[in-house]
Amino acid sequence: MKDGISLPQTVKIAGHDFKIRYPYIFREAVDLWGQCDHGIKEIRIASIDGSGQERAASGVYVTLIHELLHAIDQSTGQRVFTDESKVVAFSEMIYQVLTDNGWLKVDYPKMA
Ligand SMILES: [Zn+2]
Repeated sequence: MKDGISLPQTVKIAGHDFKIRYPYIFREAVDLWGQCDHGIKEIRIASIDGSGQERAASGVYVTLIHELLHAIDQSTGQRVFTDESKVVAFSEMIYQVLTDNGWLKVDYPKMA
């Protein structure tokens, strides 16, 4: 696990406790970075990309936000996000607002 990335182990969404599994290894699809299993209330986040490299901290957080949006969308039954590109855009922008306003501190590795 990369220094500075510490994700909570559970998150409550609506009345449900979702387990957050990080780091998660996607054996079935190496290009998968995150997944929300609404049936068993589990959010899975990869720490490595498809080529086996450690993912950037920012990417891990964006993926977590992305999967939270899916979980919220499914829990409410609203289906607000009718296409994946909207989830991608909102997760990137929510991450930007949280970090640039100092609400989410992300420790990036120091440059040598
Ligand atoms: Zn998605």
